[in-house]
Amino acid sequence: MIQKSQTKKNKIADIISIYLIFSFLLTCCFASGKFAEFWKEIDAQHYLSNHLFIITADFLHKLLFKILALTLMMAGGMGMLRLILELLLRLFRIRLVDDTSEKMNRRFRKTAAVILLFLLVMNMSFFIIIRGMKPRGPNIILIGADTLRADHLRCYGYARDTSAAVDKLAREGVVFLEAWSHISSTTPSFATIFTSKIPMSHGVLCNTSRGFRLEKQHTTIAELLKNKGYKTAAFTSGFSMKKSSQLAQGFDVFNDDFKVERRAESVNCDVFKWLNRNRKEKFFLFIHYFDPHGQYRPPPPYNEVFPYTKKEYDINRIPPYQRHRPISDPSFYIAQYDGEIKYMDDHIDRLLKKLDKLGLSEDTVIIFTADHGETLDDHKWWFEHGHYIYDEQIHIPLIVWYPKVFKHKEIDTTVTHLDIVPTILDILGIDFTADIEGRSLLDLIRGARRPEGFFYHESQHGRAGIRDGDEFSGLRSKHFAVRWKGWKLIRIPKTTGIYFELYNLREDPGELNNLIGQHPEVEQKLKGKLLHFVGQYQNTKYYLERIGHPTEKQPDLSTEEMEALRSLGYLQ
Ligand SMILES: [Zn+2]
Repeated sequence: MIQKSQTKKNKIADIISIYLIFSFLLTCCFASGKFAEFWKEIDAQHYLSNHLFIITADFLHKLLFKILALTLMMAGGMGMLRLILELLLRLFRIRLVDDTSEKMNRRFRKTAAVILLFLLVMNMSFFIIIRGMKPRGPNIILIGADTLRADHLRCYGYARDTSAAVDKLAREGVVFLEAWSHISSTTPSFATIFTSKIPMSHGVLCNTSRGFRLEKQHTTIAELLKNKGYKTAAFTSGFSMKKSSQLAQGFDVFNDDFKVERRAESVNCDVFKWLNRNRKEKFFLFIHYFDPHGQYRPPPPYNEVFPYTKKEYDINRIPPYQRHRPISDPSFYIAQYDGEIKYMDDHIDRLLKKLDKLGLSEDTVIIFTADHGETLDDHKWWFEHGHYIYDEQIHIPLIVWYPKVFKHKEIDTTVTHLDIVPTILDILGIDFTADIEGRSLLDLIRGARRPEGFFYHESQHGRAGIRDGDEFSGLRSKHFAVRWKGWKLIRIPKTTGIYFELYNLREDPGELNNLIGQHPEVEQKLKGKLLHFVGQYQNTKYYLERIGHPTEKQPDLSTEEMEALRSLGYLQ
């Protein structure tokens, strides 16, 4: 009888051992899987230390929670098993445990209770740490419209009804009437928007199609906000904003799911899916709409919304990639450009409605801007950007919309793309680093005034050769300008020498009347500032490294990609 009872006890011990081993292995598998995911994530991204701490705490919290749950399940399972076996054995009048094993059991239960309590306390601590470190400020949506000159929006004084949704943001938000881009091309401008550094400092002196990328040592707004626990996502839609630009730094998601370009409808489709999944998180979302960029071919009915005159002009003035042969009338092209803006604006309206539907509008800041403008029928060359820095190519819209906190206001102080990052950080109460070149706009929004400073602009590269038959190429052909108190001095290099143009912007906003030689004092002051700036610029490592190499050198691209770039005017 005793021997029989002993054998049964051994069997029970075997069953419990198998169960324990199985549970242990299950826990190990789970933990190793989670570790693999964890290290993959760490490895895949360029992490800042604070963010590493958050995700480590988050990971440990989730891991401990799962172990705790598994342990409890295991203990519960063991208890049930034990109960069933006890009942069965009692039926056959067999005692499962003697006094000694009862003592052991009590010790085991005590140890298990201590371990469980320890796990519980650790888990709660990590949970509290994460809660404390997760952001509490509003969400930030940064909308960057490509090639959108400010004066083609109704809220910036345009006569045509191109911008109902942007006008709504303007009516309810703070409008910066004098907002400027530092450079008239895409990748360098967005690099400035993301880093709060001028091109000379961040090194993206031309578009990524010319081989320029944002180096990893520059910190982007996405990295700063990710570091503070924000979910970060970017949805782009033009070739210069592909991952190859290295502007994806700091974004959890960088969606560039297109070959050369895509329409606002396709961008919104991906944005809406992401918003559905992340609406409960605090997020920084960047949306890049490419529609106003050439070629101007808005889908129906937007191609017929605005009238044109059907006059004949010199089609050779129109860049080949923009031509709708045989149409040469600029008013046709302008009507199509405006149609593209209206199409994009309708999709911005859908975005605003989506935010309403998801209940996100009240706690979201929207910053609306453009990377640069566009020459339409101005300055001898039509439907282009990147080659000059007349104001139509660098005057951009800038609207800060957060009606819960900021009342509508129009501000005419000169501001630039540099000010976007510090403004976002200021709104969120995040300390600035010394590495930022702009200034927060919150003091202006609250009514402060600023003394007028000097603002610098540059073109991607010049087009003196094409315009004047005076060929010049590469970084040497860049135009530079300085703006100060309503004056603007432009430096234009040509093979025959360096030329300057001076404009009084208050009397001649179209920059048609070159006043060089007529205002010696202003000219001397601005020339001193501009030449000092250009001297500094031409001594930066980014310039020196590339000056010996023509910027026309293309990255390795397939014939198909080269053709696509040609269609956007990036290649001649
Ligand atoms: Zn652009």
